[in-house]
Amino acid sequence: MASLFEQDIQTLKSVGEKRAKLFHKLGVFSVGALLRYYPRHYEDWSQPLTIEQTPFNQPCAIRATVLYKPTETRIRKGMTLYKTSVTDGIKDLQLTFFNNPYIMNTLKQGQEYVFYGKVTGTFLKKEMRVPEFYPVNHAPSICPVYRQTEGLSSRMISNAMKHALILLPNQIKDPIPYEVRMEHQLCELSYALEQIHFPKDMDCMILAKKRLIFEELFTLQLGLLQLKSRIKKETSLPPLQDYTQEFFKLLPFTPTNAQKCAIAEAMADMSHSIHRHPMSRLIQGDVGSGKTVVAAALCHSVVKNGMQAAIMAPTEILAQQHYLTMLSIFEETNITVGLLTGSLTAVKKRKLTEQLKNGSIHLVIGTHALISDTVSFENLGLVITDEQHRFGVAQRSSLAQKGNQPHILVMSATPIPRTLALMIYGDLDISVLNEMPPGRQKIETYVISSRKRPRALQYIYTHLNAGRQAYMICPLIEQNSSDLVSVEQYANSLQKETFPDKVIGILHGKMKPKEKEAIMTAFSNKEIDVLVSTTVVEVGVDVPNAVIILIENAERYGLSQLHQLRGRVGRGNLKSTCILVSDAQNEEAVARLKILCSTSDGFRIADEDLHLRGPGDFFGEKQHGLPNLKIADMAEDMDTLQKAQSAAQHILLQDPMLEQSKHQGLNAQVKQLFSIFNGQGFH
Ligand code: ADP
Ligand code: MG
Repeated sequence: MASLFEQDIQTLKSVGEKRAKLFHKLGVFSVGALLRYYPRHYEDWSQPLTIEQTPFNQPCAIRATVLYKPTETRIRKGMTLYKTSVTDGIKDLQLTFFNNPYIMNTLKQGQEYVFYGKVTGTFLKKEMRVPEFYPVNHAPSICPVYRQTEGLSSRMISNAMKHALILLPNQIKDPIPYEVRMEHQLCELSYALEQIHFPKDMDCMILAKKRLIFEELFTLQLGLLQLKSRIKKETSLPPLQDYTQEFFKLLPFTPTNAQKCAIAEAMADMSHSIHRHPMSRLIQGDVGSGKTVVAAALCHSVVKNGMQAAIMAPTEILAQQHYLTMLSIFEETNITVGLLTGSLTAVKKRKLTEQLKNGSIHLVIGTHALISDTVSFENLGLVITDEQHRFGVAQRSSLAQKGNQPHILVMSATPIPRTLALMIYGDLDISVLNEMPPGRQKIETYVISSRKRPRALQYIYTHLNAGRQAYMICPLIEQNSSDLVSVEQYANSLQKETFPDKVIGILHGKMKPKEKEAIMTAFSNKEIDVLVSTTVVEVGVDVPNAVIILIENAERYGLSQLHQLRGRVGRGNLKSTCILVSDAQNEEAVARLKILCSTSDGFRIADEDLHLRGPGDFFGEKQHGLPNLKIADMAEDMDTLQKAQSAAQHILLQDPMLEQSKHQGLNAQVKQLFSIFNGQGFH
């Protein structure tokens, strides 16, 4: 199988240079990749209906004989109709094709075919437009439907697939070891590939699919677990002494039990009380659960033990904010804190790099500028990445390489169901912050239509007059306008019509980091009353005096994202409000938004999101840095995921590097998957 991945797609019989290019568009470059290009769904051609039985507007198959050679009618320039009628002996049905002269030759009078399409027209005169068809003897029973691209139809893909399957050696070695296949009742690879593309019937397809889903998740888990054990194998870090109690004295508040727990779990990793490898741990905590304190506690102990710590944030604003937080926490100590972002002047950057190298800066906060080649450390002991879903697995490890296998802590503010976390963070241990700091009030959440916007603005105005601040989130209002235009327009009209005596600031993704920083600082310092922003404020920003957030076009966002945005308020002891403005007509969209009114539990919201929208929100936009799954579905295949994970653990226990000859196929497959994803880069 592996060698088929080296065989150019163009070596296939039906694929020339032009068609090969189209396959490339679909991401298919080799014969092996083609075989792994699975159908999106299937048409059931196996039980043709009589014409009498056919429903309207639903795809179905019929079996019928062509009554006459198709007629050709040119109705206008560039549009020619081809028509014929077919009969099943009892009723007739009209077929219509557009601009397809081949029909004249392919549909033969008196021949019987299976046609597949949607029936329209009336009971008296039924019609099928552009049906797919095969002569009766050649008709598939289940017809695969592939994602196509212009110039490359599903049928053409299916044709190429036939040729590719011929190349699949009969005696192909199955990468999944026999015992695993037996235990999980999985069919063989060659059978699975054949049946996923050309299933004999639906049951065979289901069998094939089951195996391929398992295989995909199994391979992924093997790779992730190997990564984890690789991280865990090498350690030269001394066991850490725990300075947590001393740290707690630096805080103006008492940490929550959840925070204490998470800190203790991480400390246990780093003090080698359980194992002797570097920590690689994920802290999952809802917005506002106080992850920063956990990070600070760990950095504190690491620095006290004579090592350096680094915190990497996804945006300059966040890095800046963490920097200020750390400065204030460590004010009374002799821990030195630095900030490294892309917008530093060259001189400052050089100085800071020098200080990191000679160890005079103990704790550095930065953006991905931290992973640039020029940055090195004297003795890096701990790397923390905040809001991990924005970084890829590869990026995480590239910062880790700057030290001698430092401890790694990942903080994620996207609460994801545990099963999903296992999937994305299969290489990490997980701690959960499932408790909010005391004194937090529930954020009142309302869904309103734009008709009620004036009242909402009045409400905001009252709070602004009381010295509070507000966020207003506005997406691209017009399709083709840039962030800049819509945010500026929105802010301008607010200024003119609604809040003439207030200071309005704007924030959007196209601004220079320096400008963003200045705005955020001004907002923090209460120099700005209302911040009109795109979703760039989404992550982590903390301004306790901001008590209202109004989100325009709320239906455009996923629940988890709205929950994140909502988390910008309610960060102090003041009562806070979230107003979701939406004119969405469909009930489902409104019901979805209402979920936010009834709960503030990020994990529950994530679950709802997963059910309502599928895993796209978590797995969309490649934010997770994992390879795209071709056949497994995160929402539906959780059971299989767990089975695959334990099977992977079992295998790696016997053969950690997959070196045994019976694991060669697996090894190749894992490399294949992970090389693709390394090549894919990270975002
Ligand atoms: P997140 O988990 O979203 O990153 P932060 O770490 O930014 O949350 O914390 C949110 C706010 O809660 C901050 O203002 C922080 O100072 C405060 N905070 C954190 N832990 C506690 C605590 N145990 N008691 C009171 N306030 C806390
Ligand atoms: Mg945070």
